[in-house]
Amino acid sequence: MLINELLTLPGTKGGPYPGLYLFMGAGRLVRPVLHRASGRKELIGPMEQPFMDIACLKEDIREGITTHQELDPTNMLSLIASLTPFSDYNQSPRNMYQCQMGKQTMGTPCHSFPHRTDNKLYRLQNPQAAICQTARHGEYKMDEYPNGTNAIVAVLSYTGFDMEDAMILNKSSYERGFGHASVYKTIKVDLKDEADRAGAGTDGDKPRMKFGNKKVRKGLGSSSNGGIGTNDEVLYPTLGNDGLPQVGSWVQEGEPLYCVIDELTNRERAGKHKEKEKACVQSVRLLGQHSKGKKVNRDDVVSITLRIPRNPVIGDKFSSRHGQKGVLSILWPNTDMPFSESGISPDVIINPHAFPSRMTIGMLIESMAGKSGALHGRFQDSTPFSFHESGDKIAVDYFGEQLEAAGYSYYGSEPLYSGVSGCLMHADLYVGVVYYQRLRHMVSDKYQVRATGQVNALTRQPIKGRKKGGGIRLGEMERDSLLSHGTAFLLHDRLLNCSDKHVTYACRRCGDLLSPTTEKSSVLSAGQTAIQAMQGTSRLRVFCRNAKCRDMTKRDGSNDEMVEPIILPYVFRYLANELAGMNIKMTMEIN
Ligand SMILES: [Zn+2]
Repeated sequence: MLINELLTLPGTKGGPYPGLYLFMGAGRLVRPVLHRASGRKELIGPMEQPFMDIACLKEDIREGITTHQELDPTNMLSLIASLTPFSDYNQSPRNMYQCQMGKQTMGTPCHSFPHRTDNKLYRLQNPQAAICQTARHGEYKMDEYPNGTNAIVAVLSYTGFDMEDAMILNKSSYERGFGHASVYKTIKVDLKDEADRAGAGTDGDKPRMKFGNKKVRKGLGSSSNGGIGTNDEVLYPTLGNDGLPQVGSWVQEGEPLYCVIDELTNRERAGKHKEKEKACVQSVRLLGQHSKGKKVNRDDVVSITLRIPRNPVIGDKFSSRHGQKGVLSILWPNTDMPFSESGISPDVIINPHAFPSRMTIGMLIESMAGKSGALHGRFQDSTPFSFHESGDKIAVDYFGEQLEAAGYSYYGSEPLYSGVSGCLMHADLYVGVVYYQRLRHMVSDKYQVRATGQVNALTRQPIKGRKKGGGIRLGEMERDSLLSHGTAFLLHDRLLNCSDKHVTYACRRCGDLLSPTTEKSSVLSAGQTAIQAMQGTSRLRVFCRNAKCRDMTKRDGSNDEMVEPIILPYVFRYLANELAGMNIKMTMEIN
């Protein structure tokens, strides 16, 4: 019998039931702390922890009360939180933002890419080990799974392209591979589904379809076979004879990705590459199917892994490890980037306004530590709580001295020259090395555009959904703001003209929207010739079907003058129809 957690609870008022508790489940979360009396490590469980007195540091010990002490103050941090360098210098919400963003990085999720068939997998092509590492970084083997790049970051307001959390990227850095990444997507083609789609059904256990490429006999004059009509060519030359794509080939939107043939009818169907981006065929796998316990020796299912290159474009998201996210606003030519006396120009420029309100001092320290680490060729220990203001050396002095030893300014600032004019800029600028993460929110997955397009069949309003070419909803809050601005024309334009504008007849006499109708007029007096009337090419007569209205119209076959076309949103007419279906009549007063 294995006991995971054993504790006694004294009687407390309003607390849990007192007694001896034993936990024997298959798994229990326990963590080590120091037992002060015995000086040994003790594993404590989640049930006993709230009733214990555990000191974080030596100063926190209250004699006679404190029984345990933490082995390390960073034990309170989670895996992701413990990877943030100098997190003790940051405002706490920023560390929480980093915990959110740390999970959204395009990093190195695995090393087994050739063997994996995930629906979607992100991969950074040129990752680096971070210069600033916490103690946990090594413990969790993060150097083997890096998720960012050490970037030379300058903090300055340059050209205006770094306003409001935008960041300027050095175009040459981009061309050298900064932030380059790929997305791996796997699609599964099942012959059973293909057969269902073709309405072919199955032949017993096995589907009637097979993967293949049809042979086509080209004409006698075809130049591709030397003018003699003997060579057989395949229908989809980009695919192999087995109807599957070549590994390493590229597919564009609309190009065939695979081909299946109905064995009975000999009809073929090509599966197309549906996405707008071109993709490289990374691998093709034949999956044997098992059915009803019997092994079927047919390759019924094929999985195709595609690799889509996703190099940074304007609008893509980046972030440092301090909750400082930014959007790429422009790829700035290296020739126009500011440069230092030694000729170094930054990879990234961010705006100084990103700091005062957010108070991510940890990022400034990382910048200094990263810079001195790069200069001296060493990784910097950035474990939180390892420096203290009351200690013999504070972080700024520690890294400042290293910078000074390397011939740089103590505080990490440097004079920079304008890349455009070549003049020295009038303030020393903060330049350092910060580990930057590429996040997986990319514009190519998010942009929406629509002029005219599909509409909902029932309401005739534009459809929603980015994939289907839908629009962005002008919701009630947006409507309210147009109302409060008094921009009536804009409101009318959005809600009617660009939506479900509809022209229909309404009867002014009875106020009905549904009764007005049309019929072919066969009477000469309706302004047509006898031949027109007989041929049925006559124009339509508009009248109201309401019995009273019908009595009041002239019998000469002319239009009812009280029935007039009006403009309204189509949903309004739909509502009138729905209400009529419930025996409710809606009448309008039309002037
Ligand atoms: Zn009427």
